[in-house]
Amino acid sequence: MKIGCHVSIAGGIDNSVVRAGELGCNTMQIFSKNASTWREKILKKDEVESFRGNLKNSNINPVFIHTSYLINLASPSDELYFKSINAFLEEMKRADLLLPDPYLIIHPGAHTGAGEEYGIQRIIRALNIILEKSADLNLKTMILLEDTAGSGTHLGYTFYQLKRMIEGAKDRKRIGICFDTCHAFAAGYDLSHLEGIEQTLEEIDKYVGLERLKVIHLNDSKFPLDSRKDRHMHIGKGYIGLEGFRVLVNHKYLKDLPFILETPKNDEKDDLININLVKSLVALGDGSLVRM
Ligand SMILES: [Zn+2]
Ligand SMILES: [Zn+2]
Repeated sequence: MKIGCHVSIAGGIDNSVVRAGELGCNTMQIFSKNASTWREKILKKDEVESFRGNLKNSNINPVFIHTSYLINLASPSDELYFKSINAFLEEMKRADLLLPDPYLIIHPGAHTGAGEEYGIQRIIRALNIILEKSADLNLKTMILLEDTAGSGTHLGYTFYQLKRMIEGAKDRKRIGICFDTCHAFAAGYDLSHLEGIEQTLEEIDKYVGLERLKVIHLNDSKFPLDSRKDRHMHIGKGYIGLEGFRVLVNHKYLKDLPFILETPKNDEKDDLININLVKSLVALGDGSLVRM
């Protein structure tokens, strides 16, 4: 299976590969800069070379980059909107520089009171500007829209909303999705048992197409179904529970995709414990013949 987690880039982006290797990851996610500031990170040539070299000498592939949390492609404020578009393009440039097969994950945006339809149209317009400019720059980064928990005014909490955004984009080949299990559960998709998981996957296929699904953020949820709260929990320790994850990681539509953990890191052993737990769930199989 492809399993990894979000790893820190502290002390240099090249260190992330070493960290992921130590945890037994064969895929991973990073930020390419500090995710909570607008300040751009200038990537030094030797840092990029060292990162790419480390990656080449590892079995870690693919690598996903998550965008900064400040970017809001649905913002009704023109200032924040265009700042977000520019910051996103900078993130795309860095992704292209760092990765042979670059993927950039983004939470679609929050309308902050202007209304859902307004927000969706705003996101579509932003995506089209980004797709056009990045094509001019010959960037090959693929954009992955992530489903959200729907807290506050965040959009993308149904797969139908993601469909609307993708449909509005002119160059749809360069847009895929990231499926976050905590977010989906908090938004009302019951992933705690087989039936709910099958219904969710059917909905993803109907609206977005499973071929567009490139990565799964594997997170348990600290809050109950439909709570609309984005709070991740250790695998099996939240409301989705171990049985839900056993079904998810063994499901025929998902098992060959990369799974990335974004579970809490209170203790330095937490990632290793969660990764090993997920690996043990695969060993159990899909349970279609023998129930646990
Ligand atoms: Zn996520
Ligand atoms: Zn989240």
